Order: sequence, then structure tokens, then C-alpha cells
Amino acid sequence: MYDDRELILEAKHVTREFPASNNRTLLACNDVSLNLYKGKTLGLVGESGCGKSTFMRFLVSLDKPTSGEIIFKGKDITKLKGEELRQNRQHIQMVFQDPSGSFNPKMKVRDIICEPLLNFNRIKPSEKDATAKKFLKMVDLPESFADRYPHNMSGGQCQRVAIARAIALEPEIIVMDEATCALDVSVQKTIIELVVNLQREKDITIGFIAHDLGLIQSFAHEIAVMYLGNIVEVLPGEDIGKNAMHPYTQALQGAIFDLNMDFSKKIESIDSEAPSPLDVPPGCPFQDRCEYCMDKCRKEHPKLVEVEKGHQVACHKFGQA
Ligand code: SF4
Repeated sequence: MYDDRELILEAKHVTREFPASNNRTLLACNDVSLNLYKGKTLGLVGESGCGKSTFMRFLVSLDKPTSGEIIFKGKDITKLKGEELRQNRQHIQMVFQDPSGSFNPKMKVRDIICEPLLNFNRIKPSEKDATAKKFLKMVDLPESFADRYPHNMSGGQCQRVAIARAIALEPEIIVMDEATCALDVSVQKTIIELVVNLQREKDITIGFIAHDLGLIQSFAHEIAVMYLGNIVEVLPGEDIGKNAMHPYTQALQGAIFDLNMDFSKKIESIDSEAPSPLDVPPGCPFQDRCEYCMDKCRKEHPKLVEVEKGHQVACHKFGQA
């Protein structure tokens, strides 16, 4: 799998600092380097506030990092401005957690889907109806939905319309920010199936943000685990159940609830809450919650190192020089 992947986007040493009160600094992303590959899904997982959404917002140019580069089509997209930035938006689209919140409530579905196509002169106004129906079909909604308003649809139907709008411009990358977490579990499953099918059909690259490791491991080709702004482990999605090495990933893995699980075994949980991102200790950011913490962990920040092909871990227990 690893040798035939086509690199499509490369984030290099991306850091984002936010000024906070009392001259302090909140480090939302700390030296994050991640790759996206054509037609593959990268799942970015971690607790709320770990920096995963902050990072993905850079990909769709909703924010800029304090330092670092994001290379796409040979250019650093964090430096794009004006018309070049606008044109780049066609290639990387986003689906938000609450689609109805990102829709204009006065617009019909037909207009919602066709708005980006009209903005980039891809269709004429006279082609709106046929275009909307074509994309509604792709997301398994009836053509009659073209005349609906957002408030006339369920959460799952709104998310399908958001996906239709995102694929309308034929983007190479779609970023999905907790795109199913507001939905019922059964609806989540059908949306994930839709996304997986569209990805296979159109060879789209997906960056999927989630706090639910159980959900993401069911379809992501690669998973990056983030903790307090740091990537602590990157590994193939299919390996996470048996090969997760970082104590934080293992704790997330142990906390997944599954109706088929062995209930005679203890359900893992992580003791205590993550420290405030304003009070991250020197050394390993996970030290106060880690049962394996050593002296070295309190002094040295562990680097992300490759422990085997396609598997990187940032932990002093493994492969640190
Ligand atoms: Fe635990 Fe140390 Fe590894 Fe951090 S570096 S996860 S504290 S063992």
C-alpha cells in the first residue's frame, strides 16, 4: 500500500500560536507534519481542543499557520492571496459538522448546490435545475429535494446536500470536520458509506476530523492521533486495533465502546483530564496522564520517529535517540 501512494498535499512543520491573556501563548498546533495521498482518507483524531480542527482549517485557507508550509500543486497555499487563493478553493472543499448552520436558510437546495459552480462560472443559471438534480442523485436524495429549504430536511439529509455541494466543484480534497458526529448512529453509517463510495468513484482525497476512534478506524486509510497540538502517532487505519503503540492511542483504543466487546474485560479510561493548552508541561505533553512516565519524559519533548514503514510514534518508550 505504501509504495504506490501518490502524494497530493504536504504539510511541513506547521505551527499555530494564539496570543492569550497575561502575555501567554496558546500553542494550538506544534510542528505538525502530515501528508495527504490521492484517493485516500487521513483520519485526524483526538479529544476536543487538541488542535485537529485548527490544523484542517489551514488546508481550506480559513486560517493561516504562524509558521510552516502546506504544499499543494507545487505551491505553499498558506502564502496564496487574492485571485490565486480564490481559485485554489475549488480544489479543496470542506464539509462542516453542522451543515444547516453553513447554509443560507433562505436558499433552496438547488441554489445551495449550484452556488459554488456559478461563482466559478462552471455552469449557466439556466443549467441550475439539471445540475442540482444530478448531484442530488449522486448523494442518494430524490430530485424533488431541489425545491426544499434547509429547515425542511433532517440532519442526515442536510449533510448529504453539504456533500453534494462539496463535490460539485470536483475538488481533489475534501476536509470533513466532525461531519457525522451530530447524527444518529444509523445515519452516521449511511453517510460514511456514501463518502466511501464517492471516494472510490471520484478518487477524492479526504481529511476526516473525528474524536471517535471507533468510527474513523472503520474507513480511514491512515490515522494521525493528536494530543494538545502535537501529533503523537501516525499509522495505517487497519493497524490501529493491533499495532497502536503510543499510550494515548492505546487508551483511546481501550475506551471504544462496542456492543460485541468482551464485557468480562475492564473498559479502559484515561485518568484525569488533559491540562489546559495554556499550561502544557515541558517534555512530553501526555506525561501527567501516562502510567509509563519516566524522568526523561518530564524533560525532553519526544520526537515523532518512524518505528516501522508507515508507522510513526512520539514516545520515549519507542525509538527515541
Ligand atoms: Fe508516556 Fe513518556 Fe511516552 Fe510520554 S514519552 S507517552 S510520558 S512514556
